[in-house]
Amino acid sequence: MQSIKDEYVPAKKARLKQEVEAAGGAHMAIVQVGHVESSDRYVRNKIKDCEDSMVKCDLIALPEDVTQNELLAKVRELNENNSIDGFIVQLPLPKGIDEDAVKQAISPSKDVDGFNILSKTVPATPLGIFEYLKDQGFSFVGKNAVVIGRSGIVGRPMAKLLLDASCNVTVLHSKTSDADKRRYVAMADLIVVATGHRLTLDSTFELKPTAVIIDVGINQNPYTGKLCGDCEADLKVAFQSPVPGGVGLLTRLSVIENILALKKLKSA
Ligand code: NDP
Repeated sequence: MQSIKDEYVPAKKARLKQEVEAAGGAHMAIVQVGHVESSDRYVRNKIKDCEDSMVKCDLIALPEDVTQNELLAKVRELNENNSIDGFIVQLPLPKGIDEDAVKQAISPSKDVDGFNILSKTVPATPLGIFEYLKDQGFSFVGKNAVVIGRSGIVGRPMAKLLLDASCNVTVLHSKTSDADKRRYVAMADLIVVATGHRLTLDSTFELKPTAVIIDVGINQNPYTGKLCGDCEADLKVAFQSPVPGGVGLLTRLSVIENILALKKLKSA
């Protein structure tokens, strides 16, 4: 499989840029409430990705003490603004604001992050992973896929995409016993790990040498201080996505993919 960072992402970015140009451009907005350091970085990256792909991007910065009603009013205003093809409300939101109410207030026709349960757009991380596997010719039909983690933004939508592509999907979680985890993983052709815990999968697990591992996790190694995934590095499989330089980059591509999909739906 191609290197995510050096081969796939640059080629895919160039293709997306061409598609945006062919669609006559696109216009996105990001709503950011207050300042969380990690969110500032994500927002900066999203604005840069938009600029690189010829997507116009407005940043709407709201104060930390914005009320839930004021934020919902902004969401409704953006829902009704015809010049905007889609928008993102950057998470996490300050304490006291009901994130779920905000997510469900975003119109499905404007939902770049795919957070509204009625949206046709898929959350960015599973979409980015799925598009990568598809592009690399991974043959999904009848393959044993194990998804470790069942969150609403990664594990569950990932499992649905893989099931829709006719994989045999098993979803594991924190209540799965260690013995069962080992049994399912040993049979897996594809393992997507999204637990938020380093060494969820390590070299003590029996793995198929032909398996593909996609490591979603972003953790800090307490001994080295370096960024690491949910899996031990360099497991003995056919392909393992690196951290950093893996799923984070695939996730970033999906913002452009989704704004383009919303723009096309609007013009259809
Ligand atoms: P959540 O905390 O929302 O969900 C974690 C899931 O993992 C839960 O379903 C939990 O089970 C399960 N889990 C926890 N520990 C274990 C374990 N030991 N064995 C099996 N399952 C376990 O996390 P997210 O899904 O939001 O994110 C997961 C990781 O991915 C994080 O490190 C996050 O930073 C990273 N991430 C990276 C992105 C990227 O772009 N690279 C994007 C999004 C997330 P239960 O439901 O039983 O509690």
